[in-house]
Amino acid sequence: MEMFFGGIPTAASNGKTMNVINPINQEIIDTVPCATPEDVNHVLSIAQDGAKLWGSKTTEERADILFNAADALISEQGTIATLLSKETGKPYKQSLGCVDLASQLFRGYAEKAKHLYGHILPSADDFITVQREPLGVVVCITPFNFPIELYGHKAGPALAAGNAVVIKPASDTPLATIYMTEVLIRSGIPAEVLHVVTGSGSIVGRALSESPKVNAISLTGSTSVGIDIMEHCAKNMTRTFMELGGNDGVIILDDADIDHAVAEAINGRIYNAGQVCCAPKRFIVHNSILDEFSEKLVKRILALKIGDPFDPSSDMGCLISESAAAEVAEQVNNTIAAGAKCLCGGERYDKSFYRPTVLTNVTQDMPISKDMEIFGPVFPIIGFDTDEEALSILNQSSYGLSGGVISNNTRRAFGIAKQIDAGGAIINGVGMYRTIHMPFGGYKKSGIGTEGFLETLQEMMHTKSIVLKGLH
Ligand code: NAP
Ligand code: MG
Repeated sequence: MEMFFGGIPTAASNGKTMNVINPINQEIIDTVPCATPEDVNHVLSIAQDGAKLWGSKTTEERADILFNAADALISEQGTIATLLSKETGKPYKQSLGCVDLASQLFRGYAEKAKHLYGHILPSADDFITVQREPLGVVVCITPFNFPIELYGHKAGPALAAGNAVVIKPASDTPLATIYMTEVLIRSGIPAEVLHVVTGSGSIVGRALSESPKVNAISLTGSTSVGIDIMEHCAKNMTRTFMELGGNDGVIILDDADIDHAVAEAINGRIYNAGQVCCAPKRFIVHNSILDEFSEKLVKRILALKIGDPFDPSSDMGCLISESAAAEVAEQVNNTIAAGAKCLCGGERYDKSFYRPTVLTNVTQDMPISKDMEIFGPVFPIIGFDTDEEALSILNQSSYGLSGGVISNNTRRAFGIAKQIDAGGAIINGVGMYRTIHMPFGGYKKSGIGTEGFLETLQEMMHTKSIVLKGLH
């Protein structure tokens, strides 16, 4: 596939391409261009023109186009989802859900933009208005785990706010994004307004971060990449929105419904093979129920079906790549070497597959209990005796994306939820809970800003005061 610059399929100016691999069988699905810094500069110039054109349309004109775009995504849902499952190894049903969410996000932000009103402020002499204007060119950099859903979460509000958008997908997963861009342009989004550029983060991502033509960058990715982007954006005062990594904990109290806790744990950690920013990554379990919880968890895990994403009975597919699975294996092996006990799993097979793994005897001083984020189906279980101890373990991470507390005592659980140092706290669930309305975002090293209908549209706009002096 080629990139889309101004609606035109575009190769890299030096002709270089990279392979996109199907992680299930390591076959090459397609190639995409490795854009050069000059290519990035070129697409940003077109986007600057697009920002003027799109910004000069009325909110209603933009909304009508975005409603068509939302419909087009549903018409093409199957094709986009097939590409997404091929490049990610994600079960097809989940890929369909991602496209559906992206469509809802385009529609919802267009609706919201139509009802975003300004203000008139009090003044004895003057007429003071507050209005909103688009930022200009917004760059959306997405990770491999949810390229399509996050396309919706970022480009949806950026476009509804009147900005031009340049998408830079992860090198592992550019195909569904390219095709979705084509669909959106065909549905009526002007070709100058929406673009996709491919290539490595270190070249293309860096050129985008350094460019004075960019007015904002919205990244979902790792904390280290977020810091790198912010450092480069600082030179031009480019706005940044950062949805970063996590090592979320869930506290399971002694009065919890253990079967419910096990079901929540499985849903939270198996979804997308554990490659989810806000998946529960630390299970902080009261010592009095730790054995029962672990045994029931292992039993449920052994009944899961792992395999082909296009087989509707598969509960879980593979990881994004052979190297990602090897990294999970190394992290688990190091944790076992440090004293953890492996109750099931602990094994990589068929290159990119990793068996769901339950680890006990995990102590609070191990890296896995603090900042070592494992992007795979691994369940480390850390015991505790008092609520204070549980909270101290949960909050000791430098990350703070979300958290959970499971208990049959709502008052006790609420008290704990209030003290969870994270952007979300879910009672009777794990932290992995996100709706399109909620402001989703992290505390500490998990990011800056939030995504969701409540706040993101306004974040994608400037606030401007226009004053008529001496009116009164
Ligand atoms: P990643 O390695 O940080 O990459 C994310 C994106 O940034 C990719 O498109 C990547 O391009 C690009 N990139 C890499 N280096 C860059 C640079 N120097 N400048 C600009 N862009 C650069 O993350 P990932 O491995 O794809 O995803 C996993 C991470 O994302 C985890 O830490 C996870 O927790 C986090 N995540 C967070 C959320 C959230 O909402 N908070 C959601 C999902 C995932 P290349 O692919 O070409 O390197
Ligand atoms: Mg990566």
